[in-house]
Amino acid sequence: MNLKPRRYQIAIVGAGPAGYFTAQAFQKAQMGDLSFAIDMIERLPTPWGLVRSGVAPDHPKIKTVSKVFEKIAKEPNFRLFANVELGKDVSLKDLRDQYDVVVLATGASKGRKLGITGEELKNSLTAAELVPWYNAHPDFVGVEVDLSSDTAVVIGAGNVAMDVARILAIDPTELDPTDVAEHALAKLKQSKIRTVVICGRRGPEHAAFTAPELRDLPKLENTDVYIDSKQIEEAIKHIEEMDEVEKDLRNNIEAMKAIAEHEKKGVARKLEIKFLSTPIEIKGNGKVEEIVFQKNKVENGKVIATNDRFSIKAGIVITAIGYDSDEYPGVTIESGRVSNIAGHVEHNVYAVGWAKRGPTGVIGTNKSDSTDVVDLIIENLREPKTSEGITALLKSGHEVIDQSAWEKINASEVISGEIAGKPRVKEVDWKQLINLGRS
Ligand code: NAP
Repeated sequence: MNLKPRRYQIAIVGAGPAGYFTAQAFQKAQMGDLSFAIDMIERLPTPWGLVRSGVAPDHPKIKTVSKVFEKIAKEPNFRLFANVELGKDVSLKDLRDQYDVVVLATGASKGRKLGITGEELKNSLTAAELVPWYNAHPDFVGVEVDLSSDTAVVIGAGNVAMDVARILAIDPTELDPTDVAEHALAKLKQSKIRTVVICGRRGPEHAAFTAPELRDLPKLENTDVYIDSKQIEEAIKHIEEMDEVEKDLRNNIEAMKAIAEHEKKGVARKLEIKFLSTPIEIKGNGKVEEIVFQKNKVENGKVIATNDRFSIKAGIVITAIGYDSDEYPGVTIESGRVSNIAGHVEHNVYAVGWAKRGPTGVIGTNKSDSTDVVDLIIENLREPKTSEGITALLKSGHEVIDQSAWEKINASEVISGEIAGKPRVKEVDWKQLINLGRS
């Protein structure tokens, strides 16, 4: 029996890990009469999302996933349309009309705020500003970061807080062989910060850090890492009272105990992780000078506030307490993510990654998650549309960075890196990135 070929046009908005793993899931789902033409649309002139602008520069292994992305991009049914912004260059409505399926892989890039007095002071930043600043995101080159004080405070007990704290606490020469932004490296080399304090509002047993990242901390060559042993002992007592203890939690506590107990090097650079501390006010005269905390305690498994307060004199505070999705015309945001049910947004629109789940999970989480959404999409497919896809939507003369232009940018950055002894030197200027794509 000869089946009529069914070729569906798919628009994936957002060229980060969730977008690429969605493309891969579509590629793997092709069989018999069923095929997909995938257009990946990206606002920036560069793809790879958080792998380029989120992953810490001193974690190059995590970035090797970009090789997988490039393999996906090399498939004949994949096209890249970077330098194309949803809501500006194309509307969601137009994409919905032209494509059989639109998948929003737009992430969550707005840093959540504490909502406390003093948060608006100069040098009170969110990780959503500092991380892309040190990772050479073209929109964040101009973030004002003042590293002239001796102490920095980072709020939050998750991996982003740990990344930020580590970048501020290590000897910046350790970043020489990395792809950290050149402007950030220059600033970090002049930094006066010698103590970085991470503050979590709950106990070690509630921390969102993951064990492999914690285990790396005592290995830092030029920084001593501290956790109060008493807080760990308390947490172990609480864990012993639990009916069931997950393996991840045991591993985390073991890794934190090892940090608390390991021999210190006696170096000037210090990174401390403090628990049970809720920030209640940021004080300062025009600029951050002091962070006031309320002490908490754990009772019957619950975290409760005490009347005790303490403060840390610090010239910079960075909140790393999660992210919310950006808003686009036609998209409803609920609890910080695109309103969806199991990835289905409405009609032929779907969401994946942080846009779907909220800001949780590591890069690999997106693989299974995107596959689940693609399975659902395939179940819901109807007759394929006949349309011209994105080319009918863009204004004539709009400069798209396609895969071959991106490969030129990529090659240029890697060559500059080879000369400098780094994996790449990232170009930070938007116009220059486009120029490199033309070359
Ligand atoms: P996260 O893991 O959800 O951690 C957020 C932290 O912020 C939690 O400790 C949370 O405490 C705290 N928090 C939230 N609201 C707060 C408030 N109002 N006041 C004080 N603290 C508050 O988020 P993330 O660190 O942004 O990371 C996002 C995801 O990316 C995670 O899945 C993470 O593992 C992943 N990631 C992975 C890596 C890596 O693998 N190397 C690196 C970076 C990020 P409560 O628990 O008390 O709410």
